[in-house]
Amino acid sequence: MTLERIEAHGIVGAGGGGFPTAVKLRTRASIFLVNAAECEPLLHKDKELLKHRSEAMFRGLRVAMDAVGAGEAVIGVKNKYDDVMAALKPQLPSGVRLFPLTDTYPAGDEFILVHDITGKVIPPGGLPKDVGAAVTNVETLVNIGLDRPVTHKYLTVAGAVKTPVTLRVPVGLSLAEAVEAAGGATVAPYAILIGGVMMARLAEGPDQPITKTTGGIIVLPITHPLVLRHGAKWPQIARVGRSACDQCRFCTEMCPRYLIGHPIEPHAAMRALGFTEPPNPTIAGTLYCCECNLCSLYACPEDLDPKNVCVESKPLARERGLVFKGQPEDVKPHPLAEGRRVPTTRLMARLGLNEFRNVGPLVEHEFRPQRVVLPLKQHAGPPAEPTVRPGARVRVGDLVAQPAEGQLGARIHSSIDGTVRSVEGSVEIEA
Ligand code: SF4
Ligand code: SF4
Repeated sequence: MTLERIEAHGIVGAGGGGFPTAVKLRTRASIFLVNAAECEPLLHKDKELLKHRSEAMFRGLRVAMDAVGAGEAVIGVKNKYDDVMAALKPQLPSGVRLFPLTDTYPAGDEFILVHDITGKVIPPGGLPKDVGAAVTNVETLVNIGLDRPVTHKYLTVAGAVKTPVTLRVPVGLSLAEAVEAAGGATVAPYAILIGGVMMARLAEGPDQPITKTTGGIIVLPITHPLVLRHGAKWPQIARVGRSACDQCRFCTEMCPRYLIGHPIEPHAAMRALGFTEPPNPTIAGTLYCCECNLCSLYACPEDLDPKNVCVESKPLARERGLVFKGQPEDVKPHPLAEGRRVPTTRLMARLGLNEFRNVGPLVEHEFRPQRVVLPLKQHAGPPAEPTVRPGARVRVGDLVAQPAEGQLGARIHSSIDGTVRSVEGSVEIEA
């Protein structure tokens, strides 16, 4: 399979970033890493895919290794999944091995994963290729191995639902239909966190469509602290942050990027917030925040939000060129980094998620949606341009949108048989 076919199938990083896979694979690397860490609490999609779609994953891995010229590959799986590793072991092709990852957060952050497996630190603002590595997640490799347009998405539905499960759903299905397939919500009224609980976005509503990058749907009561934290607005975050931060440094001392030696210090961004009028946290280092939220949702004893303070700093820091100017050898992991890993069990207790523990088995569910909504932007780069008009009849797998000539992006295909009703912002198809 060629990179042209990967591009034609509209394959993007299914782990959340949505970066076009064909573009990502146009690089050279000596080692290929499969990111199966899935460190967000409650999510099980990648583990289930390793169990049930390993053949397609290994086919995709071979294509990806050949594309970048990698002679070896390593699959990073949490050490608690010995059953998954035992099942994979006899299937491992030559040059491919397993690596047990600690059950900690954020083990799946690309920089942490590369460091854990290779011992090398990607420089601040760098990419895995800077240390000779390429990284892709499990579902993306499954999509390459399947060698067909991406019309469906695997995701875990968890939290306050009757039966937490992992499902294969048509892209463009509504969140509410996926929640119903998990037995429905057990609380009312409820909110939905998309993608996990740490790096989540609050859903705009239950009708919001599932895209190629939706990895998880977490249903929670609207009064749950995580829903309130993810719903907080900047003026409130800035006002409380500048008045209550006592500069204890816990946010920095627990920051995983600080611990691998990157020049990020969220407490310093908090300090800048408190000493500028109007509040302006723009300082060097914030560009290297991976937005894992560990500082805000776990480390800070005052429940402040250093992560969003770093995020707020980024555009101006980029504009002002506040970038790392040192040498790669200046970047050295903290001597206590190992002991400061955050176990998932402790994180779940801190987040008030113990009552939602799940195993998220993959179950077959036949969806027959009346309508799907395919956003024109579900990838990195500008929105795709529709290739169909209202009234057109399409079948599953037909092309409905593609990137403009020379633009970064990914093709979009119909996920049902039906009639196109609208192409404004999204391609809406009625069954
Ligand atoms: S952990 Fe909280 S209180 Fe302490 S420095 Fe960071 S933001 Fe301030
Ligand atoms: S979100 Fe916080 S803990 Fe995570 S990388 Fe950014 S500053 Fe560090």
